[in-house]
Amino acid sequence: ADLYARSDQYGYASLLTDDERAVLATLRTFLETQAAPLVAEHWERGEFPTQLLAPLADLDLMAPPSLTAGGARPRQLFEGFRVFELARTDASLATYFNGQASLFRSNVLLGGSAEQVARWDPLITRFQMTGVFALTEPEHGSDIAGGLATTARREGDTWVIDGAKRWIGSAAYSDYLTVVARDEADGKAKAFLVRTDAPGVELRKIGGKIALRMVNNADITLTEVRVGEEYRLQRVNSFADIAAMLRAMRAGVAWIATGVQAGAYEAALRYVLERHQFGRPIGGFQLVQDKLVRMLGNLTASLGMVVRLAQQQDAGVYRDEDSALAKAWVSARMRETVALAREVAGGEGITLATDVARFFADAEAVYTYEGTNEINTLVVGRAITGLSAFTR
Ligand code: FAD
Repeated sequence: ADLYARSDQYGYASLLTDDERAVLATLRTFLETQAAPLVAEHWERGEFPTQLLAPLADLDLMAPPSLTAGGARPRQLFEGFRVFELARTDASLATYFNGQASLFRSNVLLGGSAEQVARWDPLITRFQMTGVFALTEPEHGSDIAGGLATTARREGDTWVIDGAKRWIGSAAYSDYLTVVARDEADGKAKAFLVRTDAPGVELRKIGGKIALRMVNNADITLTEVRVGEEYRLQRVNSFADIAAMLRAMRAGVAWIATGVQAGAYEAALRYVLERHQFGRPIGGFQLVQDKLVRMLGNLTASLGMVVRLAQQQDAGVYRDEDSALAKAWVSARMRETVALAREVAGGEGITLATDVARFFADAEAVYTYEGTNEINTLVVGRAITGLSAFTR
């Protein structure tokens, strides 16, 4: 019952069903016993703990039998708390899982034909077919919608793809890249499932990162990569279809940014209750309590926002600007929260020992990916004014 005793001040988790809570409790046990002991060391080494991939898949979190009886789909509210829980332990783990469950799976669900979904979704939910989303390019990040330079040329039933992608997360340990490319014939965006080991695909790890060090991000070149028409997502025919994918992905990332705050806040709270100065726990000082309360305020407001967004998604009434607003606002609160957590841990706050430093650093990547704060702000600004500030 007190799964979120510390982080969920207003009891939002009470909106979950008992079955949903039971699945999340299993996930929490896995994270606390198997994942948490590995993350600091792997973060420092800059390596993903790939030994967690199989046990994570075995948890059956995407299609848990208790939530999918009779062909039902788990609710967005459950999916949100699921990624919140992962991020509360570690942002890289959440990013990996979200890559498969939100980026890859929802792209196939949104972009695939009924036949493609029927063929692939059961494999994707069981991690028997893994994938990532490859949109960003070396020369086009924020302006990818108009700038998309990777091309696809049709030759009979085969497509030939040429171009480059940058920042693609977890590609090194996934089967497929969902490559977004511009059709040379009609100039429109199309999406293809490309095997990571296909001839002409080259992955290079991006080194020297100070955030999400556990996630292996790749620079990718695609040189005359041949893909069958059956691996083209049949319902992606323009950038507007990609925007629908971004809408879903941004909502997921807003939950990650909320979970990161929970992890940082809880680590900070533990620290200030244990650390003594001037003969008493530092958590007893007014200035420290002020910081804790600011963190809790940010976290509680963020949870309120993403919970309501998930309800709107479940009701089928959320819009691009709704998830852009959540992504922009919650990730800005996250940046404040992790900085406060790092502050109250003093010198220890810059070591991996107290956990807050890892959340502090990782927050910078979450702040930027899935559309920067500025770009998501402009998506909302365009919606509320009817005036687009995007220029090319
Ligand atoms: P730029 O577009 O070069 O932006 C630089 C700065 O300029 C930003 O502050 C930006 O907000 C600002 N700016 C740009 N245009 C405007 C404007 N019109 N008005 C105001 N400000 C503007 N992409 C994928 O496709 N798949 C992935 O799996 C993936 N994973 C990622 C993981 C990590 C760790 C990171 C860091 C990135 C990842 N990305 C991924 C890419 C990510 O989405 C981009 O980094 C992001 O969209 C920003 O693009 P950019 O880095 O090229 O920055």
